[in-house]
Amino acid sequence: MTLSVLDLFSIGLGPSSSHTVGPMRAARLFSRSLAESGRLGEVVGIKAVLFGSLGATGRGHGSDDAVILGLAGLDPETIGADEAPVVVAEAADSGRLRLDGTHEVAFSAQDDVVLNGWESLPGHPNGMRLTAYSTEEAAAAAGTGVEDRAEGAGVVSTQEYYSVGGGFVVTAEDMTNPADAEPDVPEPYPFVSGDELLQRCRESGLSIAQVMHANELTRHTAEEIRSSLLQVWAVMQECVENGCTRTEEVLPGVLLAKRRAPGLRRRLREQEAKGDTKDALWAMEWVNLFALAVNEENASGGRVVTAPTNGAAGIIPAVLHYFDMFRECNDDKVEEFLLTAGAIGTLFKRNASISGAEVGCQGEVGSACSMAAGALCAVLGGTPEQVENAAEIGLEHNLGLTCDPIAGLVQIPCIERNAIGSVKAINAARLSLAGDGTHRVSLDECITTMRDTGRDMMSKYKETSRGGLAVNVAVNIPEC
Ligand code: SF4
Repeated sequence: MTLSVLDLFSIGLGPSSSHTVGPMRAARLFSRSLAESGRLGEVVGIKAVLFGSLGATGRGHGSDDAVILGLAGLDPETIGADEAPVVVAEAADSGRLRLDGTHEVAFSAQDDVVLNGWESLPGHPNGMRLTAYSTEEAAAAAGTGVEDRAEGAGVVSTQEYYSVGGGFVVTAEDMTNPADAEPDVPEPYPFVSGDELLQRCRESGLSIAQVMHANELTRHTAEEIRSSLLQVWAVMQECVENGCTRTEEVLPGVLLAKRRAPGLRRRLREQEAKGDTKDALWAMEWVNLFALAVNEENASGGRVVTAPTNGAAGIIPAVLHYFDMFRECNDDKVEEFLLTAGAIGTLFKRNASISGAEVGCQGEVGSACSMAAGALCAVLGGTPEQVENAAEIGLEHNLGLTCDPIAGLVQIPCIERNAIGSVKAINAARLSLAGDGTHRVSLDECITTMRDTGRDMMSKYKETSRGGLAVNVAVNIPEC
């Protein structure tokens, strides 16, 4: 199984990679498959059922709207943030949806996208089933339970998908045979663990970024890698700028959470203008700002880089902005930073999970903190051993972190948690650089611990909004 850094850093819409980007991709794949099979013209109705965590928090995460957008053939990478609400409102108001952008069917946003948060499909907590019907009777009779898989007369096609974190989507068949889902590409420096990655570096004399780059060359040209990573960085910068310049005072949703980034930047700029920058933690204020800006954009459905998820999308950009602002940064350093972060991210994806629904927030904020810590350590001149140490520290102190978004919105605790995670990542890099790379707990051991802890974590702490802050903080949720 091979993983590209460009898969880990994809561009899409907020607020969630697993609950927004993934369902949108799955729905798009489904409508595309209908078109490619030549059967799209037979379809008169469609039903999407979102199970498990997708069903439990889908409303707050915008999963229902994402399915509509995907069925309409829209791609999370290219859709405009302003376009999404227009398409969703049109479908809801007209009672019609244009599948794959071409074939119009009757559609009820209320009845045809069903959130079933009480049952889960067997493969993953983020499961969904999409079915296309050729008769109105079959569509009307469609059940919404796990056992209600539709087959036979009136069914054009049915498919189950899993959104496994970071915007990655697999079918039920891929889950049972992952080797088919991601065929191996021969790489010059293959690694499946942190230990192997270090071994490849020692044998070759290359840095972690150089090892990752050499492997990426089996999939992309050097120019493609560079331009794609610089584009990722450009979108991260644009996202921070957007987050700092919004004029709306509160974020969408019942929490009425205040946007803090615009006011914080105004204050920091005023202080700067007065020369009031002597505070020893001045840089930390900016790191907080960068993370808040990205995650407020994400919470409002803005354009973000999934890194490695949307809920945790602020940490890697915040740490890279910190490096850009307070150290010597250039395009080579940006590439080195993102390749190093990507190499570490593949270890999480391969050996544990980056899905909050699977392992809790340790898999999202913990993974992002670890990736950012290792990447910062690398661009500050750390050896591969120090980078691995930084990544390990970045994860170790997020172990056990639960996912309990209040009202199912990716806002509280998510937004602040990214700011805290960013500062933690910088500290992890500094702690590592203060040593020689030797340390007691390896990154692999820490990732295994995260996986085991996630497995033991009760499901109410894994992106269901049925535990933790989500049940202990009073919120007035209006009747739907
Ligand atoms: S609590 Fe963490 S894992 Fe859960 S939605 Fe927020 S950022 Fe994602």
